[in-house]
Amino acid sequence: MSFLFDPAAPVAVPIVGQPELFPVRRVYCVGRNYAAHAIEMGHDPDREPPFFFQKNPDNIHLSGGWPYPPGTSDVHHEIELVVALRSGGVDIPVSEALDHVFGYGVGLDMTRRDLQGEAKQLGRPWEVGKAFEHSAPMGGLTPSSRIGHPTSGAIWLEIDGQRRQEGDLGQLIWKVPETIAYLSGLFRLAPGDLIMTGTPSGVGPVSRGNVLRGHVDGLEDLIVNVV
Ligand code: MN
Repeated sequence: MSFLFDPAAPVAVPIVGQPELFPVRRVYCVGRNYAAHAIEMGHDPDREPPFFFQKNPDNIHLSGGWPYPPGTSDVHHEIELVVALRSGGVDIPVSEALDHVFGYGVGLDMTRRDLQGEAKQLGRPWEVGKAFEHSAPMGGLTPSSRIGHPTSGAIWLEIDGQRRQEGDLGQLIWKVPETIAYLSGLFRLAPGDLIMTGTPSGVGPVSRGNVLRGHVDGLEDLIVNVV
């Protein structure tokens, strides 16, 4: 078999402490999964059913300066716990969901907030706000075989050494096993899928020259230089 042109290289995320890379299949994102962030975005913090959107695997940004994207003047940081799946399926029960988790990482759901806001207002899809080049900076994945499955612990983001976002994984409205179970009722999950689990409050704009440091207790910090 031959291709008309060279297929795109597979996207893969480094694994902390081991040489293999984690090949990425899909990137799912959970919306409004911390009450304080739902409130800051003008929504009811009640436990409504979770909702999802996706980024493209090749939107993942692993190293080098983070290029400020085109078409916007209001790019926001959203610090998130990333869940990496080593297996999948459909209709996964909550009680078995964590068996499918390979590990965890720190990610940023970078958002062109002005374009997302416009899309919301007009009832249009969110891709222009969420799924652009480099929109998913990500640190190395730490296997759950080493750290277990964190259910609490600090999650924060600093810009130039100043704390901007702060929360605790214990504040997730939809916990990781529930999120996996719910998603698997909508999509066939598979090895290589990543789930960005939502952001705590304090989202805001970034500027060229900013250095972002994202942290989740027990995981490798994510450092992003906006250029
Ligand atoms: Mn988000």
